[in-house]
Amino acid sequence: MNRPRSPDRYAVIGHPVTHSQSPFIHAQFAQLTGEAVDYGRIECPLTGFEVTLRRFVDEGGRGCNVTVPFKTDAWALATRRTPRAELAGAANVLRFDPEGWWADNTDGVGLVRDIEVHAQRPLAGRRVLLIGAGGAGAGVLGPLLQARPTAVTVCNRTAAKAEHLVQRHAALAADTKVELLQRSLAAPGLPFDIVINASASSLHGAAVPVSSGVLAPGALAVDLMYGPAAEPFLRWARDAGATARDGVGMLVEQAAEAFAVWRGVRPPSAPVLASLRQRLAAAS
Ligand code: NAP
Repeated sequence: MNRPRSPDRYAVIGHPVTHSQSPFIHAQFAQLTGEAVDYGRIECPLTGFEVTLRRFVDEGGRGCNVTVPFKTDAWALATRRTPRAELAGAANVLRFDPEGWWADNTDGVGLVRDIEVHAQRPLAGRRVLLIGAGGAGAGVLGPLLQARPTAVTVCNRTAAKAEHLVQRHAALAADTKVELLQRSLAAPGLPFDIVINASASSLHGAAVPVSSGVLAPGALAVDLMYGPAAEPFLRWARDAGATARDGVGMLVEQAAEAFAVWRGVRPPSAPVLASLRQRLAAAS
């Protein structure tokens, strides 16, 4: 008699991961697609990323999501990378293939899908302001350029990091015919149609790092953060007449893309986004 196969193991690895919603999201995806997936969370000591990964692989782990602060380490440990991970210099997805560890970055495609599909704002022809040049900013810039807005301006507290990110993406910007600029947070330039806060300002309870003058009439303002920490940014945007959006949609979409690269099946994201919003609302 055939015994049912035990589910394949995946996890989110980071520090901290206690409040990660990824296990909930992936459990829903597994249920909706019928895939045999067991997805947990692994709290990783700051100096023990590689050891923790190797232990997980030895225990049968097939792949993982990587979150703060290990995305650059994940990228460096992989022997093969997708072009979008290569460009980002950071990975949020690993797959432990027999021929070597394989890295991807699904943050950018997740953000673009949230903006274009869920918020219904096509990026083509829009002027975009990207605030932040850390792991998240690096992950989203390439897919933003591929959506062919008119222009993308990158601002970061440490200007040199924004400059580096812009230089790294210059060839892609030329290919996609997008004007790619680096400006200071104090003077980012003309108002923008879409403003994306990919900085950790909300996470740290700091003020929104740009003036509300960056918001063009009818602008969409997205903070990659979600939950209570995103509220001040969302209020700032609404008070200036913009449409405000948190990072929950991106979280679900980057997870859907990761599930697809692990399992070869794309899960439906809209019902999972709706149930995650309900879950977060009930918890607040
Ligand atoms: P990171 O690599 O640590 O980078 C942090 C970035 O924020 C840097 O650009 C940093 O500027 C900037 N920053 C920090 N404090 C600031 C402040 N008070 N004012 C202005 N800028 C400040 O972090 P990350 O991985 O990029 O993550 C950034 C945010 O995105 C986090 O809140 C994270 O939770 C969120 N995120 C959400 C999703 C999602 O799916 N929704 C996915 C990825 C990330 P310096 O360079 O000057 O230090």
